[in-house]
Amino acid sequence: MARIVVIGAGVGGLAAAARLAVTGHEVTVLERAGTVGGKLGRHRHDTPEGSWHFDTGPSLVTLPQVFHDLFEATGAKLDEYLDLVPLDPIVRHVFPGGGPTLDSCADPAEFTARVGAAFGDRAAADWQRLWRRAGRVWAASHRDVLRRTVDSPRDLAALAWRLGDLAAIGPGRTLRGLSRRHLADPRLRMLLDRYATYTGADPRRAPAALVAVPYAELAYGGWYLRGGLGTLADALLSRCLDLGVVVRTGATVTRIDAAGGRVHGVRLAGVAAPVPADVVVANVDALTLYRDLLPTPRRLAALTDRSLAGFVLLLGVRGDSGLAHHTVFFPRDHDAEFDAVFGDPGRGVRARPAPDPTVFVTVADDPAVRPAGHEAWFVLVNAARHGTAAGAVDWRRPGLAEAYADRILDVLAERGVDVRDRLAFREIRTPADLDAATGAPGGAIYGTAGGLLRPANRGPVAGLWLVGGSSHPGGGLPMVTLSAEIVADAIGPAW
Ligand SMILES: Cc1cc2nc3c(=O)[nH]c(=O)nc-3n(C[C@H](O)[C@H](O)[C@H](O)COP(=O)(O)OP(=O)(O)OC[C@H]3O[C@@H](n4cnc5c(N)ncnc54)[C@H](O)[C@@H]3O)c2cc1C
Repeated sequence: MARIVVIGAGVGGLAAAARLAVTGHEVTVLERAGTVGGKLGRHRHDTPEGSWHFDTGPSLVTLPQVFHDLFEATGAKLDEYLDLVPLDPIVRHVFPGGGPTLDSCADPAEFTARVGAAFGDRAAADWQRLWRRAGRVWAASHRDVLRRTVDSPRDLAALAWRLGDLAAIGPGRTLRGLSRRHLADPRLRMLLDRYATYTGADPRRAPAALVAVPYAELAYGGWYLRGGLGTLADALLSRCLDLGVVVRTGATVTRIDAAGGRVHGVRLAGVAAPVPADVVVANVDALTLYRDLLPTPRRLAALTDRSLAGFVLLLGVRGDSGLAHHTVFFPRDHDAEFDAVFGDPGRGVRARPAPDPTVFVTVADDPAVRPAGHEAWFVLVNAARHGTAAGAVDWRRPGLAEAYADRILDVLAERGVDVRDRLAFREIRTPADLDAATGAPGGAIYGTAGGLLRPANRGPVAGLWLVGGSSHPGGGLPMVTLSAEIVADAIGPAW
């Protein structure tokens, strides 16, 4: 049995803790915030009409099998804890200039038919061809990348990928290049581009392998959790406590003790005595871990293209808008949006809030999250990270957040959904707020932006492991849960 300390109670940290506890280890989770869940955040707002419950982070569950596997592996059934609701449409896509909308769904044949009905036979045939390729990329990455440690470029190169896998993955090609090659219809190109920003990356630079992301969503479905996605954090906490994990909130780790090439424990803010540990699993951002928590700071290898952040509005809306659970409103000029939120420090172009961004609106038809006759809206737009460098925006600049919130409500009105005079209240969450709440540097949602090679799960000293969105295999709820599986397997059982 090892004494294991997990730093951070995000989904990756809690999932790792549960898996390690069930295999006989003595596990303690140390979380700096007052609650668990990390980016899977929640917020309650009370008004005379009643209580509003918002998810402030994820709104879509994909790859539900990953969560079934986690619960099964820790001796429980997911259905006893969570109420998974399949979504159709998964997302309603609204394109600029009116015209048909496109509803995504988990039935590939049906989705192709919907593409055909909306944009014509050529578009449907294009999509089908891209879909076959996406399936090959998904199969190769699921088989070789998503369930094992990948420590270095050499590991990737050594994978026994067949020629067909490599042709599909298209190393060196970008997602944008792939869409230009396969998709003639500009609306389908927009749809594919969005899956890059979805993982925090610019489609013009992101690898073509990201085509596996829409495949995973559209082949295995998109889901809501009744009561809100935050119920996943409750369920994971409950699993951990049942398995004897000690979870301490309000406990900020300031340093990892490591001497002689291996970890010995961690130090907590305001506490003199160290917390001893044989193994430390860090669920904090990899950048923070390497820069701030090791006895000697280290640089992460040059694979850290920081991900995008998000600007969020939580809206209490009176009445019924008739929106789908998820709606994406695309802008006229997608590239202008990418230029704004990523900037181009190389050419001296500063990042800035995009004046005409893609707007993603989530409205759950769930009486548990809003007063009767009202709606709880979660509105998300792509945003540059918080900071003062050229690729970032100082979201704390006086007046900026409020002015940008006004702008987003105006944009929604321009795109046909005007809720400005139906607001019971609005709250704003900027990238700076996410940074403060979860320790994500600059509020970057996914740590490093999408790619196959991310900071490894194996840390730079023996006994130190990384789980979570900034390490392999990446961000998003299923990926961080897979990272926990990879790390728990690598540590092995106590017996
Ligand atoms: C706005 C938004 C929308 C998203 N939408 C989706 C979606 O629809 N679907 C999806 O699958 N994913 C989505 N994601 C991504 C998803 O939320 C994350 O990838 C995932 O929750 C990250 O989990 P993690 O394990 O990396 O831990 P994190 O959530 O990053 O948690 C890390 C934890 O470590 C704690 N910590 C940090 N430093 C210390 C320290 N020194 N000592 C102790 N504790 C510390 C933090 O407080 C935090 O609780 C979204 C995220 C955001 C922000």
